[in-house]
Amino acid sequence: MEHSSNNPPRDVQVDNAAIEKAVALLREGNVVAMPTETVYGLAGDGFNPRALARIFEVKQRPLFDPLILHVTGIEGAFAVAESISAPARKLAEKFWPGPLTLILPKNDRVPELATSGLPSVAVRAPSHPVARALIEAFGGPIAAPSANRFGRISPTTAEAVRKELGDAVPLILEGGACCVGVESTIVDCSAQRPLILRAGGAPVEEIEAIVGPVDHATPVSSKPLAPGHLEHHYAPGKTLRLVDSLEQLNPAGDYADAGLLAFDRLPEVRFGKVLLLSSTGDLREAAAHYFAMMRELDESSVRQIIAVRPPKTGLGLAINERLGRAQSKRS
Ligand code: AMP
Ligand code: MG
Repeated sequence: MEHSSNNPPRDVQVDNAAIEKAVALLREGNVVAMPTETVYGLAGDGFNPRALARIFEVKQRPLFDPLILHVTGIEGAFAVAESISAPARKLAEKFWPGPLTLILPKNDRVPELATSGLPSVAVRAPSHPVARALIEAFGGPIAAPSANRFGRISPTTAEAVRKELGDAVPLILEGGACCVGVESTIVDCSAQRPLILRAGGAPVEEIEAIVGPVDHATPVSSKPLAPGHLEHHYAPGKTLRLVDSLEQLNPAGDYADAGLLAFDRLPEVRFGKVLLLSSTGDLREAAAHYFAMMRELDESSVRQIIAVRPPKTGLGLAINERLGRAQSKRS
């Protein structure tokens, strides 16, 4: 396996002058785009309601969809949470820094806007060196939802952020392609049994190895408690059809106007464009490629997209969840 879920990318340089510029923008209540190991985030001061409002405005995100606050570690989580339960602490010790978000009871310093009025707050310590440098230099929690307009494909490169948000963001910190490539796994530890609100970069199997069996929340069409949960999300503009395997395709079919997002092997029939998530069937590699390839197909000249579902284990669960929500927009 290439990297474990909490290994930071190796070859990324931190540009200190850019970090200083970013901190200055954050202090004046502005937003900047920052790379994380999951996807690029639209960052703002987590304690400044004006900055939070700007994030919602730039993303065109509904105010009932709460934000994740980014910190450097467990000490940082105590700056926004009233308490950290024993299972939450165990998970933080295992996965931080990395692609795991914890839902914890919020303290009074966290603005209502960050949590959409909920009594809990979402917290994560990212591992990307640029994100860590920014949070450390800023010295406080940074709210950072994915740097895309609401409901659309998450950006995994600085270039994708530029295309997605362009002039609305005064600074985009460069940090290479995101090595995890899908959003964090969100775990609510406030109930008896930990509840997975969103499958993501931290595999559920690894979470269960730490805290025992977990429950899974199911996506619904509207649910203010976890709107990241909204059914339509991560959606390309084109029609998307999902298949369980290449065998489901019609061998005599005409797919010249379709793009195929294949999992681990190429199709026999001809497509207008074919992208392969991982030639070796490595689910981590597939997750890292997922959004960029979906975006590439969406921006290409094909008229519809067909995607092959990967197995629903490890990071395959996160990919399947995003495929399902991307498709539900159309049905
Ligand atoms: P993102 O759009 O990747 O920043 O993810 C934010 C998601 O985290 C939201 O859409 C919610 O699903 C989830 N979230 C944030 N805060 C809370 C909270 N207090 N309780 C439950 N879910 C939350
Ligand atoms: Mg998002």
